[in-house]
Amino acid sequence: MSETEKMPILFVGHGSPMNAIEDNAYTKGWEEISRRIPKPEAILAISAHWYTNGSRVADAAKPKTIYDMYGFPDSLYKVTYNAPGAPELANLTKKSISRNVQIDNTWGIDHGTWSVLHKMYPKADIPVFQLSVDSSASPEIHFQIGQEISSFREKGVLILGSGNVVHNLSRINWGMQGGHPWAIEFDNYIKDKIISRDYQDVINYKSAGKSSEMSFPTPEHFFPLLYILGASNTGDRLTIFNDSCTLGSLSMTCYLFE
Ligand code: ZN
Repeated sequence: MSETEKMPILFVGHGSPMNAIEDNAYTKGWEEISRRIPKPEAILAISAHWYTNGSRVADAAKPKTIYDMYGFPDSLYKVTYNAPGAPELANLTKKSISRNVQIDNTWGIDHGTWSVLHKMYPKADIPVFQLSVDSSASPEIHFQIGQEISSFREKGVLILGSGNVVHNLSRINWGMQGGHPWAIEFDNYIKDKIISRDYQDVINYKSAGKSSEMSFPTPEHFFPLLYILGASNTGDRLTIFNDSCTLGSLSMTCYLFE
């Protein structure tokens, strides 16, 4: 990459863990994007599934694959993602963030990260490290951390947020292809705000009203998006893909800034 070129940043709606071993329109969308963007030097993943009190970063040289999901077919638990870690970049991440960040290797590469990367980079030859989502932080803070790690783009690091804009498992309908009306409403609300770069309205997502209350009982799948918006620049070109809801209460919508 040239000095002026910045690595793109990506928010992925990861949906069901089964996407890791299925071939469908969503996984094809992830694969297409991986072919379109420059190959990263490393991947800094912010997964909804590492939701901790305080920010943590993993600096393991060989992070383990974590199976943090239950009740799926055996074949899903046989997927491994043995990418190397990135200890130096992980420690630089800790230094780049103005809040206290703990180094923590009790976690690993969770399914929020590997279900997507298994499709995007199946060779697992790019170093991957995770930054947790701080359960005690406000939406503003998540956005601010995104701003603070934005400079990693100049080091060829792909910042990957993995969650879902709409994620309400209590309202899931495994036979449904689209989304419930409130899910589509909230997904569109967030999409319109991102297109118009009204990020303050995304941070204040509750201003969407009832649809925001219905869209997730807890915000861990939504917050990774705020890191990506924080790391973006006004001059970035925006691509929205996998733009839809599925199973009633999941949004698969993805945002690429480049
Ligand atoms: Zn998830």
